[in-house]
Amino acid sequence: MEKKPFVTKSQVEEIVKTYPTPFHLYDEKGIRENAKKVKEAFAWNPGFREYFAVKATPNPYILKILQEYDMGCDCSSYTELMLAKSCGFDGKHIMFSSNDTPAEEFAYADELGAIINLDDFTHIDFLEETIGHIPETISCRYNPGGVFELSNGIMDNPGDSKYGMTKDQLIEAFKILKDKGAKHFGVHAFLASNTVTNEYYPKLAGELFELIVELKEKTGCDIRFVNLSGGVGIPYTPDKEPNDIAVIGEGVHKKFDEILVPAGLGDVSIYTEMGRFMLGPYGCLVTKAIHEKHIYKEYIGVDACAANLMRPAIYGAYHHITVLGKENAPCDHVYDVTGSLCENCDKFAVDRKLPEIDMGDYLVIHDTGAHGFSMGYNYNGRLRSAELLLKEDGSVKMIRRAETPEDYFATFDCFDDIRITK
Ligand SMILES: *Cc1c(COP(=O)(O)O)cnc(C)c1O
Repeated sequence: MEKKPFVTKSQVEEIVKTYPTPFHLYDEKGIRENAKKVKEAFAWNPGFREYFAVKATPNPYILKILQEYDMGCDCSSYTELMLAKSCGFDGKHIMFSSNDTPAEEFAYADELGAIINLDDFTHIDFLEETIGHIPETISCRYNPGGVFELSNGIMDNPGDSKYGMTKDQLIEAFKILKDKGAKHFGVHAFLASNTVTNEYYPKLAGELFELIVELKEKTGCDIRFVNLSGGVGIPYTPDKEPNDIAVIGEGVHKKFDEILVPAGLGDVSIYTEMGRFMLGPYGCLVTKAIHEKHIYKEYIGVDACAANLMRPAIYGAYHHITVLGKENAPCDHVYDVTGSLCENCDKFAVDRKLPEIDMGDYLVIHDTGAHGFSMGYNYNGRLRSAELLLKEDGSVKMIRRAETPEDYFATFDCFDDIRITK
C-alpha cells in the first residue's frame, strides 16, 4: 500500500517556526480512530481490555488519549509503573509484564495493585519473599518452546527466547499459587513479533485457549483472562497490506466459541498488550537535510540520528522515507540517508531510491510512533528531540520538550567541579 505522511510540507514549515527539527510528531486523529477500531474488534468479549505497552511510546499525553478508550497499560519497570500511576491508571488497569524483575519493582507493582504477570517459575518464591504474600490475581507467562509458524511463512523462535515458563512449570506454578492463596488466574504469551498477518492472534489464542482448558482440568484454578500480549504488526514497507483488526478480533472470537465456550470457560476475558499496532503508524520523525556528500556513494546527512530512532541501526529495520513537497516526484536518485553518530550503522536508509534531495528539504521518516523516540539514547552527546502532537484541529502541542545540555549534565550535579560551560 502506498505510504503517505499524515503531515504536509506547509504544515511542517509552520511547525518549525516554533519547534526546530528534528522532532517526533504524533497524529492524534489516527491514534483515536485506531483505538476505537481496536475496541470495536473485541467488543464481543465483555471483559476485553487493551493494556498498551508503555515501552513503545512512554508519553503521558499519549497514555491519556488511550485511557479515554478504556485502555490500561502494560509496564515492565519501576519508572513505567510510576508513569502509569501519574497518569491516574487504576491498579487493575496496569499489567506488570516484566522479566528478570528486581524485588523493589514487584513490591511497587503490588503496592499499586497492578496485575503481576510472572515470567518464571522461580519468581513465585521470589515474589512471596519480597511482598510477604501472593496476590489474589496473578498471571503467568507461557513459552511453548520450539518454533511458532504461520501459514504465510512468518515464523519466530520461542525456543530461543528468554521469556516465560514451560507447560509443566506452568501447571505446577498454578497449583502452587493456588495453595498460596491466589484466586484468579491469567495466562500470557508473546510468540512472534511484528506479524503483518491477520492470522497471528487467532492462532495464538487457539493455543492459549486449549492450554487453559487443560490448566483448568489439571489444577482447578479459576482462570479469568488470556493475555495475547503484543506482536500485531504494521506494514513498514509499502509492499505489505496492513492488518485488519476487525478480522483479527473475529478470528479470536471464532476460536473462543470453538474452544472456550464448550469447555464452560465462556466468561474468560481477552486482554492484549499491543504497542506497535496502537501507535507505530501514527508517529513520524521529521528531519531536515543538512549535508550532501559524494564519495563512493551518495549520502544525504540529516539533523536526526540513531539516537532519535534506533531501529534501522540495530535491526537494519526499514523505515519508509518521504521527501516533503516531492511526494509525486520520480524516485530517480539512490542515497544513503545518514545521521551524525560516529557509528557507520547510523543510517536511516541504505541504497534508497528517493527523489532528488536539496539541502533544507524536510524528510518524514515513517512509522516511528512506537519503539521510536522511546529507544532513544545519548550516545555521542546527542540529545533527545521533542515530541509533538498534531491535534485533530490541525494545531500542534508539544508533549515533551527537547533535551538540553543541562539535561545531559544533570546527572553530574553531584560534583561541584563539573559545571556546564559554553
Ligand atoms: C514489547 C512488549 C509488548 C508490545 O509489543 P508490540 O510488538 O509493540 O505490540 C507487549 N508485551 C510485552 C510483555 C512486551 O515486552
